[in-house]
Amino acid sequence: MSDWTVFAPLAGWVTPLGDVPDPVFAEKMLGDGLAIDPVNDALCAPCDATVLTVHEAGHAVTLRSTDGYELICHIGVDTVSLGGKGLTPQVHAGAKVLAGQPLIRFDLDYLVQNAPAVVTPIIVADATRYAVEPIAKGLVAVGDALLRVVPLAAETVETAETGETLIEETVVALSHGLHARPAARLVEAVRRHEAKVTLYHGDRHASALSAVGLLGLGLGHGTTVRIEANGAQAAAAMAEVIAFLNDATVEDTPIDVPEPTRGEGPGLGGVPAAPGLAVGPIHRLTRAAIPVETVAETVEAERTKLTDALARVREGLAQAATAGGARGGVMAAHAAMLADPTLGDAALAAVARGLSAGVAWQEAIAEQVAVLISSGDRRIAERADDLRDLERHVLAALAGLPIEGPSVPTGAILVAEDLLPSQVAALDAGVVAGIALVKGGPTSHAAILAAGMGLPMAVAFGEPLAALEDGRVIVLDADRGLIDPEPDADTQAGARDTIARRKAETEAARAATGPCRTLDGTRIEMFANLGSVADAEAAVAEGAEGCGLLRTEFLFLERETAPTRDEQARDYQAIADALGDRPMIVRLLDVGGDKPAPYMDLPVEENPALGLRGIRVSLADPQLLEDQVGAILSVRQPCRIMAPMVASLSELEAVRAVVERQGGKAEVGVMIETPAAAISADILATKADFFSIGTNDLTQYTLAMDRGNAAVAAGVDGLHPAVLRLIGATCDGAAKHDTPVGVCGSLAADRLAVPILLGLGVTELSVPPARVAAIKALVGKLDMAKCRAAAIHALALPSAAAVRARITNMLQEIGA
Ligand code: PEP
Ligand code: MG
Repeated sequence: MSDWTVFAPLAGWVTPLGDVPDPVFAEKMLGDGLAIDPVNDALCAPCDATVLTVHEAGHAVTLRSTDGYELICHIGVDTVSLGGKGLTPQVHAGAKVLAGQPLIRFDLDYLVQNAPAVVTPIIVADATRYAVEPIAKGLVAVGDALLRVVPLAAETVETAETGETLIEETVVALSHGLHARPAARLVEAVRRHEAKVTLYHGDRHASALSAVGLLGLGLGHGTTVRIEANGAQAAAAMAEVIAFLNDATVEDTPIDVPEPTRGEGPGLGGVPAAPGLAVGPIHRLTRAAIPVETVAETVEAERTKLTDALARVREGLAQAATAGGARGGVMAAHAAMLADPTLGDAALAAVARGLSAGVAWQEAIAEQVAVLISSGDRRIAERADDLRDLERHVLAALAGLPIEGPSVPTGAILVAEDLLPSQVAALDAGVVAGIALVKGGPTSHAAILAAGMGLPMAVAFGEPLAALEDGRVIVLDADRGLIDPEPDADTQAGARDTIARRKAETEAARAATGPCRTLDGTRIEMFANLGSVADAEAAVAEGAEGCGLLRTEFLFLERETAPTRDEQARDYQAIADALGDRPMIVRLLDVGGDKPAPYMDLPVEENPALGLRGIRVSLADPQLLEDQVGAILSVRQPCRIMAPMVASLSELEAVRAVVERQGGKAEVGVMIETPAAAISADILATKADFFSIGTNDLTQYTLAMDRGNAAVAAGVDGLHPAVLRLIGATCDGAAKHDTPVGVCGSLAADRLAVPILLGLGVTELSVPPARVAAIKALVGKLDMAKCRAAAIHALALPSAAAVRARITNMLQEIGA
């Protein structure tokens, strides 16, 4: 038999078996493997297999792979005592399943709150025949390679049959029957005897040395079982087996969930998600469960309850969406998700099957979450949080409860496993000092909202953060994704001074009327990235001098048909009006890749980041491009037009040709987002009126690291010297033709990047509205000569971390 791979059946954090807080798993009594602390809500098949058993409590399955290995997947610890609540098996014993197929769906929130642990062991039974080698570490998606199983040379120790076979019958008194934990203990007990013991139930039988076989008997509480024992110690083995099965207290042994140990070292490392510095006591957030009515009245009554609740939530979201800005945008996205007929239809179909409105809604959400998670794209998977958010909203509406945001004491740092977007939206940025998450992704809607609200946030700190107790004062440096868990009085005072100083400087910059300049008087245009009229208003209030990136996708996403030319013209005009006479750079439609536009029928691609996205979509659909360019040219204030994802001069020429055909006049620029564009900037500059560097994409394409993939999030840093060299090449190429260079990617809003960008030759920064005043204040403290020197040094450093450390020192030295 050759080596065999077990694939991750869950999305989540890989955990060694030894860390599972149940000795049956930790001590490998059932076999060897790994555990996963799930972040999704469906256990899927880890290989092509036949389902041997599904426990009646719905928390565990045993499988036989097509290669003949036996596996046990056990959701959480002590979940058998939940009696099936929060767990919905999707398969029956005997079913043939394919790797990745959902086996059990579960309500993660419910399990987290009601079980000692949700960490889920995935075990290859019979460690005497197989060696198990872990493959995965950290965060995995469903279907990632998890374990390699290597068959060992067969070593069968047969117990010789001697004399008479003892036969007894007994009743299983174990309160939850013979599930995984007692089965493992029974195997241990029998192994100590020189005896061959077989248990019989109905037409099935199993050796007492096979935990999987025992589970397959389905011995529930109160079932009668026949036991046969043979061998030199048959009598002793029989007595022990009967005593064990009769002992109703076996289950009473408490599961010892160890207190997590405190993180070691000078600090905790996470991933920056929204910039800023915070100091304050930890306030830990736990999400309260919303009661769900599981008993259905008539189908008609449940349908009415569900449609009423959906209508109420839809109304609330529509209201919240009018607020505009990042928050309004997320609420609008939630409203669009709620309007998706797939979700509503699935829930109504479940109601028609006799489920209560609440259970039907949970089921419909679970199905959609599974679809997102199984997409394999972690950025799409992060949208599962949005669905969970909707789940809570509708369940709360059904229960007649208000959805309350977390209540956080003034000045506290909110710490949570993860946060839903609505929980961030409900925070008061004037009250909360910052956010630190054990899990979470840097591109989640929660992170985008925090950035829009000016709340420092860092994510993915893992267990060391979970171990810090409530009330402990920490310093959160979200610029670098660091936590100092034990700041002394001086460090705390220093952090508070820095926050206060930055706040004062930001307020001064907001109030300042003059153009943005460095300390030595070099003019830097301070623009904002916009997606709506509300954004434009906020940006102007913050002191923005123009718009460096109008993300026109907002008009195209979350719709069922493309916006007409007139609709576009109206929207662009409204934003231009909100900007007054400030310049506006309009980016042509940038969909594809991670930005879907369902009605556009973009092909499903194996590698979407490298496929039809950005300007390639517009060039493939000439009418779309003509309409958009026409709409932009109709705006009364002159707009500049910018093409996303350009790789070649021909793409720029094609856009310029459309502008000319539409009979308008506009400057046409190029987003530098591909290494190709950066390296050939001198060629592009011959025809481009301006450049704007999209550092988000430039970083992902330079480092070959998906910007939405939490597993590589810590490495996706635009301050990597390789990215900085490409920015340098862009500025050098542009300088040959006097083409101005801006930056509209998130590096422009990163305090530690700004001195280098200016030093390399960037003359325009475009940042989220909430960051305009802070970055303007920073620019005012920078000296160009020092920035140039810092840039030259940075290009020669070995890593992004080294660059961040160096610029941190530089800013400290100049008191910025
Ligand atoms: C970028 O890639 O840096 C950018 C500004 O574009 P987006 O983030 O919208 O892809
Ligand atoms: Mg981009």
